[in-house]
Amino acid sequence: MEKTHWKKVVSDPNFIGEGDFQEGEEKVLTIAKVNASETVATAEGKSKKAVVHWAEPGNKPMILNVARSKNIEKVSGSGYFEDWPGTKVQLYIEHGIKAFGEVVSAVRVRPYKPRIQQQAPVPPCTDCGNAIHPAAGHDARWMATYTAKKYGVPLCADCASKRKAEAMEQAAPTEETVEIADDNREEDLL
Ligand SMILES: [Zn+2]
Repeated sequence: MEKTHWKKVVSDPNFIGEGDFQEGEEKVLTIAKVNASETVATAEGKSKKAVVHWAEPGNKPMILNVARSKNIEKVSGSGYFEDWPGTKVQLYIEHGIKAFGEVVSAVRVRPYKPRIQQQAPVPPCTDCGNAIHPAAGHDARWMATYTAKKYGVPLCADCASKRKAEAMEQAAPTEETVEIADDNREEDLL
């Protein structure tokens, strides 16, 4: 199930942070542009920062610091902002960083070209709204993909069984459906 990290709600909502990642998630994002001098409002007040914006919609921009910039340079092969658009980077959360006497977590850039495929989270079941769980020896993603192909929407195992039973009932012709078919034929003649 999709989880909500408190930092997603409580911390700076304008820039990408730990709260935007599921546990263990790594994101592959494409740099759309770098704004070398963007006014950023922080707890200490307003300041100018270099900010990366992403090509993939729905992802918050990322403030550049030295560590992130160095690794983007490694991935892109250039230290110039102008050369960065189009570069794909892999982001992850590093825990246990000591900063200003506190232990914090931070978004980091992997110092190499992305090695994972960006995967969308497994959607919930369309019929009951619950998370899709592994079933019949298949993982949740397989279940979602299989049911979406077969029924047009992602379903959990229980709802997929229900739909299957319904489909079999509908497949058996009843007197009612035969009558409707006859009516339609009369209308066609008129
Ligand atoms: Zn369901």
